[in-house]
Amino acid sequence: MKVRFWGVRGSIASPGPRTVRYGGNTTCIEVRSDEGALMILDAGTGIFPLAQQLLKSLPVQASIFMTHTHWDHIQGLPFFTPLYIPGNKLLIHGAYDIVSRRGIEQAMEVQLQYSFFPVREAEMKANIDYRSVNVGEPIPVGDATVTPLLLNHPVVNFGYRIDCKGKSVFFTGDHEPWPNIYQPDDEEYAEYQAMIDQQQAQLDAALAGLDILIADSSYTASEYPTKVGWGHGTLEGSIAWGRRLGVRTLVCTHHEPERHDDALEAAFAAALDQAGPGPGESCATEFLLAREGMELVL
Ligand SMILES: [Zn+2]
Ligand SMILES: [Zn+2]
Repeated sequence: MKVRFWGVRGSIASPGPRTVRYGGNTTCIEVRSDEGALMILDAGTGIFPLAQQLLKSLPVQASIFMTHTHWDHIQGLPFFTPLYIPGNKLLIHGAYDIVSRRGIEQAMEVQLQYSFFPVREAEMKANIDYRSVNVGEPIPVGDATVTPLLLNHPVVNFGYRIDCKGKSVFFTGDHEPWPNIYQPDDEEYAEYQAMIDQQQAQLDAALAGLDILIADSSYTASEYPTKVGWGHGTLEGSIAWGRRLGVRTLVCTHHEPERHDDALEAAFAAALDQAGPGPGESCATEFLLAREGMELVL
């Protein structure tokens, strides 16, 4: 399997000289199975440069998996050029929205209203299909299997675990490890903590044997207290999670839009420093910051 990062920024695209090393596009990850099946995780602005690459070898056949429908994860979708070309086959997966009672096709329709975008959906000439996914129900894509897992975010957010020939990668999308909403001296604290510990243990069990963890690591631990409940994780939390799972590689992503390259590296170095060498460094986890253009092979 190959994993390539096309967008690593959270919330809003942030191009410019201060973000040029890690990139300014919002979330998009390309995954290729051993036999070449194409899976695309999220359609942030990073899907546009991916589209340019894909146009070099038509027809395009791809399965797109949307973690959730916040703007920074869907905004590139109408600009995914293969949608407009006959002969391409695109299968778009995502959550059923219980509020609007609509499937993931809503992410396209909402953006393609004339008030917001000049091209009509009828002009998309590729073969396009939409599928709602369910927690834990594996979806075969060629020689790979994609399993959606429910994570913690203000809207339904599916992380996707992709398995292929004994190797695996998991992308969280946006995820805040379940926080305790009570204070330690509150009566309800212990019971609530037991519940979220159980949720975390279930998620960890579903990620057993994972090779690569790509985790929302938007904040630093010191920034987090003012952002509890916003639905994002921390660099420190992701490092601890990657170690606990014993993954080969942890990739921290969803970088804050105002955190320029030097500040991002400094925050990451400080988080690693604070984490220390950790137990059992003989099976050491490799820690990386997601960077546009970075490719991992497993
Ligand atoms: Zn996001
Ligand atoms: Zn989000």
